[in-house]
Amino acid sequence: MRIVADQELCIGSGMCVLTSEELFDQDPDDGHVIVRVEHPSPAQLEHAREAVAQCPSQALSLDDE
Ligand code: SF4
Repeated sequence: MRIVADQELCIGSGMCVLTSEELFDQDPDDGHVIVRVEHPSPAQLEHAREAVAQCPSQALSLDDE
């Protein structure tokens, strides 16, 4: 699985970082998401799924690769 972030859709709310600081960070300039772990481990996948579900602008998705 790969975490995909659409920078055009991200509104910098930071919900993903609140969900997992391990997987996500925010650009200090524009607040847009930075995916820290592109390929989450099985243990991280649950947090990745939660972040995808919580993102208010549907900027995050999981790619099956
Ligand atoms: S939760 Fe969504 S909109 Fe908010 S910073 Fe993360 S990717 Fe961007």
